[in-house]
Parts: sequence; structure tokens; C-alpha cells
Amino acid sequence: MFTLIKNAQVYAPNHLGVCDVLITDGRIAHIDTDIEISAGSLLKTVDADGRILVPGFVDTLVHITGGGGEGGFNTRTPELDFKDAIAAGVTTMIGALGTDATTRTLGDLYGKTQALNVDGLNCFMYTGSYELPAKTITGSVREDIIYIDPVIGVGEVAISDHRGSQPTEHELARLAADSRVGGLLSGKSGVVMIHVGANQDKLDILHRVQEEFEVGLNHFYPTHVNRSQALLESGSLFAKQGGTIDLTASTNDHLIAMGDIRASDGLRYLLEDGCPANRITFSSDAQGSLPHFDANGRLDGLDIGSISSLHEELVRAVKELNIPLVTALACITKNPAKVTGLYKKGEIKVGCDADLNLLDPNTLAVDSVMSRGKWLQFEGVICAKTAFDH
Ligand code: ZN
Repeated sequence: MFTLIKNAQVYAPNHLGVCDVLITDGRIAHIDTDIEISAGSLLKTVDADGRILVPGFVDTLVHITGGGGEGGFNTRTPELDFKDAIAAGVTTMIGALGTDATTRTLGDLYGKTQALNVDGLNCFMYTGSYELPAKTITGSVREDIIYIDPVIGVGEVAISDHRGSQPTEHELARLAADSRVGGLLSGKSGVVMIHVGANQDKLDILHRVQEEFEVGLNHFYPTHVNRSQALLESGSLFAKQGGTIDLTASTNDHLIAMGDIRASDGLRYLLEDGCPANRITFSSDAQGSLPHFDANGRLDGLDIGSISSLHEELVRAVKELNIPLVTALACITKNPAKVTGLYKKGEIKVGCDADLNLLDPNTLAVDSVMSRGKWLQFEGVICAKTAFDH
């Protein structure tokens, strides 16, 4: 089967102009200004008619099995509905546990990861959770990465947070080395996704690990760095020194009132501060809880992160903050694919997987979504089916 998308305004994420894109075998086979082929009934042609063609979005932190529970068992958040991911244009995601690796397990995370893959998305996972020593499936972080296909790294390991294990520099250095070697031996990134909490230490422990143990900052991938202005400034420095930082797209009015910065605003600050644009990513933190704590550290409310926030922050960055589409788009496509070692994702390039979104040229609304060459949503209608759809 061949699919030919004609007359699309292609952002790969770099702007390629109006092009045709030929897809076969789930991959991008050819990109040119005017492709003509004859393949009879094996060819399906779609006229994009000026719609914008972008890579499927890559979301590097999704609590696909749910998260939270900080307010007791009835505050455990629900698992991801794969149709929500499709509607949000997210074709690749990395699942993670979080605070709770006691009543939630890596086995369950693995099962949900594979379910999403069978249903047509591209799902990977981190081994471990907030706590150290890391919980694993095989008994070691290194072996999980080597032996378990969808495991690409470890995380999100908590630092500067009252819910974390308060890891030492040595523990983090060992974890990074273990994950790194696992990645090297299996051709994966072996990245250590770091959950950064609200404590004063911010990202400082990662700099101390670098100084004491000569572990490069690029082994760590800190998220939630838009939690406060002080942390964002610390994140900018971290990226200027060679690391990649992640801004969380899910937020709410309460968190913003407490100092949380929207990902789009955070991106604007970082660009103005001279932070390298290719070392900034957004993730949704979808299905994670957005807890708020009072001055005594007691939970006083919580919401659920949403996978649609990734696309919402893209639209806001471009439409309200006048950030170039190329720059904002890279934060949810090429940059996250690169830091997590998913080299066939996040770009419209010959040989890459055909994970694509067609966007409305005026509103940037998600119109059609393709994953590995198959339409999951076409012209506003979800066509993917789970085992429970008849
Ligand atoms: Zn987190």
C-alpha cells in the first residue's frame, strides 16, 4: 500500500514549503515538490490542500497507567485512554510510574505500553519510579534496558522533592552509569528522566554529580523545570551547559497562582535568555496528578494532567506569543525524540516512521493523525479501534 499526501505545507519541523510526501510500509519513502506515481488500487492519494503537515507529537512523560494517590487511594488517577492521545496528535509517548511504585507496578506499566502499541500508537517506558534504589522488572536498571524492548531509560527519579528518596550524589552517579551502559549495549538512550520538585536545591545536585563523578549533564533529563521562575533560571543554565530540559504542559490556575509557569511562557523566557532552542522539550505529564500542598505540606486539592496540553501549549506559543512554529514544534517533535534516542520519530524525513499530523492552517487544530503509515484520525474523525470497539 502507498499513501501519497499532496500539497501539504510541510514543517519537518523545519519548514520545507509545499511538498508531496509518499508513504509506504509505514515509513516516509519520498518527499518532493510534485510526486507522480501509478500504483492502481494500491495507491491512496490525500490532497492536503494547504493544510500543515507536521511530525506526530512525541510526549516524553505520560503516566499511562495513572498516577497520583497523594490524597489517599481515592485520589489515584485513571489510566490513559488512547483516543485522547490520538485526538491530541500524540503518536509517540513514554510511560512512567511516579510517586507510587507500591500499589502501581512496572508490570502493569509494561502491559499498558504494549496495549498502546498493539492499538497503533508508539509507546515506550521508563523503568524505575520516583524512588531509589530503583524498582525494576529484572532486578537491575541495566538489564531492564537491555532485555525489555520498550524500556529506553529510567525515571522519573525525584530530586528536590519531599516525595522522593532524597538520593545522594553517589546514588545518582551510579544510576546514570548503569542506565548509560544499558543504553550503550542495547542501542537506546539510557536517559535518566529526573522529576524536579519545589525544594531550594533545584537542579544543583545534578551539577554536583557532574563535578564529583564526571557524569555529563546530558545523561539527565530534568522535567517540571517551569515549576517556578527560580527553577526555570536554573534550567536555562543546565541547558546552556549541555543538558536538555523539559517543561510540563499540564497546569491549572491554582498552580499558576503558586508560581507555576505555562510551558509556552517558559519557552519564551528560555529563548530570550539565550537557552539553546534544541535543548528544550515539552511533555504533558498526562494522567499524573497535579497536587497542591498548603504551607504545612498537606494536600489541599488535585487535578489530572491532560495529554491535550501538549498541543494546547504549541498553539498558544505560536498564536499568542508569536514564537515561530518551527521552534515551538521542535519542542514536541524532534527535540524530545533526540533526547530519548527515538531517531525514527519526531521528524518528516525519508526513512523515518510515517507518524504525521495534518493541522488546520489557521487554527493549528489537529485534523488528521497517522501512526506508522495508518490513519488513526482522518479529517476530524477517529478511525482507530480498540479490541472493545465493534
Ligand atoms: Zn513528576
